[in-house]
Amino acid sequence: MSIEIAGVGKRFGDFVALDDVSVSIPTGQLTALLGPSGGGKSTLLRIIAGLESADTGTVQIEGTDATKLPPQKRNVGFVFQHYAVFKHMSVAKNVAFGLEIRAPGKARVPLTAQRRDDRTRIQKRVEELLDLVHLSQFADRLPAQLSGGQRQRMALARALAVEPTVLLLDEPFGALDAKVRKELRDWLRRLHDEVHVTTVFVTHDQEEALEVADEIVVINEGRVEQVGTPDELYDEPANDFVMGFLGE
Ligand code: ADP
Ligand code: MG
Repeated sequence: MSIEIAGVGKRFGDFVALDDVSVSIPTGQLTALLGPSGGGKSTLLRIIAGLESADTGTVQIEGTDATKLPPQKRNVGFVFQHYAVFKHMSVAKNVAFGLEIRAPGKARVPLTAQRRDDRTRIQKRVEELLDLVHLSQFADRLPAQLSGGQRQRMALARALAVEPTVLLLDEPFGALDAKVRKELRDWLRRLHDEVHVTTVFVTHDQEEALEVADEIVVINEGRVEQVGTPDELYDEPANDFVMGFLGE
């Protein structure tokens, strides 16, 4: 199983952002979309998420044609560089958000036994998630009381809350300083080894991709230049672009 992207094209006016992109992303893998700024990485990620529609081509997620499915039906978790957090809600409430809206019998239902069971289940899940991202002791704080790195870990917990089929990260550590970036990079690797969710993350940072990813998709000017493991990219760059880019 996998994410199968076949013949995906996307234009913005006359500008070709993605040109016939086909790539297969295996299940359970940590995959990086790597390339220079403006190359089409975010556009491709947004098309996988259903936040943007492709002009041509198809996206299959685990054997289901997702091409026309809205984001909420794709079961994807998403983390952006500047993650939208609910500032007035505690860390625990932020993580619970996706679970609350998914819980059956949500609004205007009296506090029945069923509803109490849902509450208990959600609380337990939030505790597990906060434990997973090592934020248990911060459950009752507000996001503003967390460091930038801790906030992105909270964002990851929130994205994982609904047990997504695919976790999509767009430059998740881009806004953080170098030391924290490095910490979170190692930390994402460890988290992935624990939960094994199919993960696609966008980065323009060669070192980040080479150190963290199982496999790298190099994207430039809307085209896939190469797909390979970090070793393969190093040992056998497909072309001058890849060689030059990795050498930077
Ligand atoms: P990357 O994430 O690799 O930096 P993007 O996918 O964000 O690249 O963008 C690829 C190109 O498409 C860029 O030149 C960008 O300006 C353009 N683009 C992206 N989204 C839009 C949009 N909504 N309208 C017009 N142009 C866009
Ligand atoms: Mg981008």
